[in-house]
Parts: sequence; C-alpha cells; structure tokens
Amino acid sequence: MAVSRFLRFKPSKSPAEIDRVLRYLIRHARRNVEGYRCVLDEAGASPANIHGVDDLSRLPIVSKETLFRRVPLRHTLHRLANPSRCVRVGTSGSTGLPLNVFMSRGEALYRRLLVFRSWQRLSSFRFPLSVADVGSWVEDEAPMSIQHRGIVTVVRISIALPVERQIELLRRHRPQIISGYPTALSILAEAPQGGSDLSSLRLVATRGEVLSEETRKTLEASFGCRVADYYNCEEIGNIAWECPKDSEVLHINTDGCVVEIVDSRGHPVRDGEEGRVIVTNLYNCTMPFIRYDLGDQGVMISSRRDRCACGSQHPRMAVLSGRDDDYVHLPDQRKVSPRLVATAVNRAFSGESPLGGFDRHFRRFQVVQDALDHLTIRIVPEAERLSDFHEVIAPALRRLHPGLHCSIEVVDDLPLEPSGKFKKVISSIRRPDTS
Ligand SMILES: [Zn+2]
Repeated sequence: MAVSRFLRFKPSKSPAEIDRVLRYLIRHARRNVEGYRCVLDEAGASPANIHGVDDLSRLPIVSKETLFRRVPLRHTLHRLANPSRCVRVGTSGSTGLPLNVFMSRGEALYRRLLVFRSWQRLSSFRFPLSVADVGSWVEDEAPMSIQHRGIVTVVRISIALPVERQIELLRRHRPQIISGYPTALSILAEAPQGGSDLSSLRLVATRGEVLSEETRKTLEASFGCRVADYYNCEEIGNIAWECPKDSEVLHINTDGCVVEIVDSRGHPVRDGEEGRVIVTNLYNCTMPFIRYDLGDQGVMISSRRDRCACGSQHPRMAVLSGRDDDYVHLPDQRKVSPRLVATAVNRAFSGESPLGGFDRHFRRFQVVQDALDHLTIRIVPEAERLSDFHEVIAPALRRLHPGLHCSIEVVDDLPLEPSGKFKKVISSIRRPDTS
C-alpha cells in the first residue's frame, strides 16, 4: 500500500502502474472519504472488484450535482485533512456550478509539474522561466501577483484589469509562456499594441474554453509564436494537451487522470463515438474525483495502442462541446471575456462561505446579455435560500462598468441542451463588431 501511495506521483506511469494507483485511490476513498463511502455503498459497488482501468465502469459516476452539492464539503475531503492547511483552487466550471478543490502541498506540486510537462511537449524553454497566467483571479486587492517557485516565476494577471495594463504587465515580465482563456487572450491580441514586443514568448497555451480556428489565427498573428490548446480543469489540472502534429487532436495526460467517454447510461462508448467526458484524478487523495462528470462532450480518436504521428503513445481524444460561451459587451462598447462576467456572479456571494465550498445560495446560473447596458441573470436557487440576489449581484456587475444593470430571473431549472452542452453566458444583442 505504501508504494502505491507514492506511485501516484510518478511522472511516467505504465498501464500496470496506473491500475495499481487506481486500486489504491478507490480503496483509500472508500475508507477515508465519507461522501464516497455513501456513493459506493448506495450503488452496491465494492472497491474489491476494481482491478484497474477496465473495471472502472462498475463504479457510479459522480458530478457536482450528485456528490459535491449533495453532501457537506467536509464529507468530500479525507477525514484527516485540515482544509485551512490545504492548497485550494476555485472553479466555476462549464456547468455554472462553483466548487473549490482542495489538495495537499505535495499533490499541488505534482499537479503543477504535470501542467509544466504538458507545455514542454509543445515547445522548449530556458530557465529561469517566467509564465504569465491571465485569468479570473480575485482582483480587488491584487490585480497582479508574482509567485516564485524556485526557477519558475508565475505572474498572475487579472482579466479584470484594463487591456492596456495587462499588456504593460506582459511586456514588463517578459514571459516565455502565456496561459489563459481564448476569449481573454484574443481581446489582448486585438488591442492596438497587441502582442508586439513580446520577443521572449515561446508558447501561448489556451485553456478553459473552445479554441476556434479563427481565434487561433488571431493569437498566432499577434503573439508571433506557437498557440496550443490544453484541456484543463481545476479538478484535475491538465487532462490533455494538443497533439504537436494535429491541432484537432488532444493527447490524454495519463499520469494525472483516466479519461472515459460514456453514453447517457454511463456505459463506455466505442472509439469514434461521441459521449460525456468522465475523469478520474490519479493523484488527489485529499479530495478524490473518481468517475467525475465534467459536463463536456468528447470522443476517443483511436485505439490506445496506436502511436501518433507526433510519436506519442498517449491516448487521443477530442473535446466536442461544453465550453463555448459568448463575449459580453460593456456599455462603453468594450468586449470582455465571458469568464470575467461569470466570475463576478460567482464571487458576489463568496464572502459568505467561509469554507469556500458550494455557495449554498444558488445551484446554477446563466447570464444573458439582452442590451448593451443590461444582463439578465437566471438563477436556480437552493430551496432553503431565497436571498435577495439583485442586492448582491448588481453591485458586483457595476464594478465591471458603472452603467451595467441587471435583472434577476429565479427559475426552477436550467436544463442542458440536447447535446449535453450548457451555455453559461449568452449574448442576444447585435454586436458592435463582428468578432
Ligand atoms: Zn500526436
């Protein structure tokens, strides 16, 4: 058992080692994580029957709805974990449900290592390495923060900053890698100064949203370097990286997770058939994710034994939908990333949830822009919490622009589209530009 405990941190795992880690993780979760004990017991699933990846389909699928919203946050963590000593990352995800992910320092370090290795597969870097992470960080106190991790410096730049300021920070810190949402990076690329003068840059790594061919071309032209897409989520870190030879294909990061594609009944589908993307985290014992539904649609591209044209033997997949929201335009015509608006709504209540778990005020939300100065926020509230949503959300949106107003529509449900997709930010206005 002790060997398996550390085997999860091995950077290049063989199939037999992945099976061994899986057996350890599932037994460990059954024994130490109350939420998983209930889920497995309810389904009559026994860890003793799981010998490896091929047996995974005997376990129930969990999701934010079925596990992480249903049970107290404490019961989704290892019984001995101390949340205040854990590394915590927040996610809003593509389904509109916020969740905080907890991990030990060792787990967080391994997660970062896997992300770095996935960047290395597309480009080469010199040390010391500077990475600019352009994202929806908590912007009120720290619009920009710098974290030194030995020979790697990560500069976190908030997408809430004015575009000119974001570009100025990029120039000052001369990153070799810029990581961010396609919508947010594309806004930087389209600015007059754009990505010019960033000669240090080796890779633009997009994540979190669908990267369209048009956006890829815009980013390549502006930043003058390789643009590659990464299938990442906070629950796992890097799930898959873009094949260096074929931008339509992603290679699965089998050192960090197991990916399955399943049908509506949760059964695995054949290669080439579309289905829901289910992931199992291979290293997080603090807050396990076992057969976790990400809410995306995907497809496996070929047999796992095939060697790809790029030389990789990692399984190949494509993500078909689940992460394509619309841009929002502010009253001054400025175009902003849908992530900025979704984060503002998510965080409007964050001061009220000390453990940072699910915000118990609402279950799901959707933002619809119906005028240049108006958004309608559709909210499925928690049954027991009918807050005055307008009072909390309106000031959060006014921080984006003082002339931005909103109405709240409380609804019973926000169903997924037939494709399994859920669009969290929709724009129904005629756009000031065509992009
Ligand atoms: Zn490849």
